[in-house]
Amino acid sequence: MLAMNVKRLVKKEVSRLRAYNAKEIPCRIKLDANESPYGFIGALKAVGGLDTNRYPDPEAKKLRILLARSIGVNKDAILQGNGSDELIYYLIATFGGPVLYPVPTFSMYGIIAQALGEKYIGIPLNREFDLDMEKTMAAIKRERPKLIFLSSPNNPTGNCFSSGKILKIIGQSKCIVVVDEAYQPFASKKGFLPLLKDYQNLVIMRTLSKIGLAALRTGFLIADPAIVGEVNKVRLPFNVNSLSQAVAIAALKEKKLLNSCIRAIIAERKRLLREMERIKGVRPFPSEANFILFSVKDPEGVYAFLLKKGILVRNISGAVRGCLRVTVGRPEENSAFIKALRETEQ
Ligand code: PMP
Repeated sequence: MLAMNVKRLVKKEVSRLRAYNAKEIPCRIKLDANESPYGFIGALKAVGGLDTNRYPDPEAKKLRILLARSIGVNKDAILQGNGSDELIYYLIATFGGPVLYPVPTFSMYGIIAQALGEKYIGIPLNREFDLDMEKTMAAIKRERPKLIFLSSPNNPTGNCFSSGKILKIIGQSKCIVVVDEAYQPFASKKGFLPLLKDYQNLVIMRTLSKIGLAALRTGFLIADPAIVGEVNKVRLPFNVNSLSQAVAIAALKEKKLLNSCIRAIIAERKRLLREMERIKGVRPFPSEANFILFSVKDPEGVYAFLLKKGILVRNISGAVRGCLRVTVGRPEENSAFIKALRETEQ
């Protein structure tokens, strides 16, 4: 075989990229990936009667109709994705760049913009982790972005951005504004769905990944049907497989169970926050999501100590100085985390 310099053949934007860090790290208690600790094994029965020889429904009609009913929109306002990650890809492929977002935030907005060769602009959040309007509005004027991504509640900071600021951005920018509501089920504030009818440039993203169905890789984009129609042109035909469609439908019908899991996570988040506040040297930040960002004096040391105890959290200190992020788990997992964190007290 001829030796080949692959690097030389790769697009320069991709060559400069670093792959998303999603390695499996062995652990006893997994609190690193903002998953729900509660799954829906019963929903797996739905895959029993599937025709494995047939392609999936390319339009995921039943699933979209069910979701449309539950959130009160028309099914033509919904586009399905293989996780909302894929929808970020499709949005950038459809509208192009520059792509603007606050930082720190979900890293995929920047990674996908870079992979697609689009300009990406991160605007630092203010000290309260809220949008810095002066910098944001100036950047919108200067850079004329095609797309703005606002994760609210924001990953990894956990807070919702102020609604007034989001509204001002939607109202005053001439581009597509995506409000990524991946963590909305855990928030005390209402989301932006009711505003879809007033703003044609508003796109909302939702996912099943945070409410117990991450294994399915199923997310949704909700927007004016004209936007959905355009993004649908770049969608791969069978992007959500039959197994995921069937299990998602079965799980979404279990509304009571889904809601009780969400309530349990919110209650545990409150307990975790209270208990973390009492640990010397630990500063947790309030959260509207299923995780808590917290600062410690020695993030590397605390991360390694927790891992030695079998507890995996996310080291965010590269993005937010001195910070780690813990996902809310089951009560006994959270207690084990608190106990181990107390041992790091100085
Ligand atoms: N948006 C945000 C803000 C996220 O934190 C995540 C997952 N970490 C996603 C989107 C992606 O979710 P999905 O599993 O639906 O691709």
